[in-house]
Amino acid sequence: MSFVFEPHSITTVPVRNEGADFPVRRIFCVGRNYAEHAREMGAVDQATGLEPPFFFMKPSDALVTGAGALMVDYPPATANLHHEVEMVVALSAGGANLTVDQAQAAIFGYGIGLDLTRRDMQARAKEKGHPWDMSKGFDQSAVCGPLSRREGTGLLTQGAIWLEVNGVRRQRGDLADMLWNVAAVIANLSTLVSLAAGDLIYTGTPSGVGPLARGDQLLAGVDGLGTLRVSIR
Ligand code: MN
Repeated sequence: MSFVFEPHSITTVPVRNEGADFPVRRIFCVGRNYAEHAREMGAVDQATGLEPPFFFMKPSDALVTGAGALMVDYPPATANLHHEVEMVVALSAGGANLTVDQAQAAIFGYGIGLDLTRRDMQARAKEKGHPWDMSKGFDQSAVCGPLSRREGTGLLTQGAIWLEVNGVRRQRGDLADMLWNVAAVIANLSTLVSLAAGDLIYTGTPSGVGPLARGDQLLAGVDGLGTLRVSIR
């Protein structure tokens, strides 16, 4: 096949202790999946868990990943870039209308991620009923460390998830506090779109989100997945 210009290369995420990388298809994110975070964003009613989960996306080339410490450029068009530490779930299978068991079986593994957000722009979008794409899906907005296979970690359903900025603890929660657990998130999402191997899902952030500045040094952790270092330049 010939192309009118060189096709873009696909995005990949390293897999811990392996020579092969994980090829990324789509990046999905769950909104307000921890009650405390839903409350801090002023969404009291959605903290009950009775509302279905809602989703947004980031383009796959918004991913910042690699085996070591990662660097993110402070983005344009915001004065309030926020951190959201999240566990990222990677899929090795997909389909539509998955049962919770099928959803669980589709999990390839997990990574530590950051859903970086232009909070000021998002607030304006919410106010006006505009889409979130430019406040959530900008360049370098999806940070993800190496993936750990679920065969090694077991199914991650509980354990601490936390973030420090310049040595100060900003976010801390427990995976068990997700309003919609990982398998339920995958199953629900598969009623909206067909999922496939290569999909990444950011599973929501615990409370304590806040602003970042150039030069900030971030250290994120999820029990069972180690830690991830990220700096803002
Ligand atoms: Mn998020």
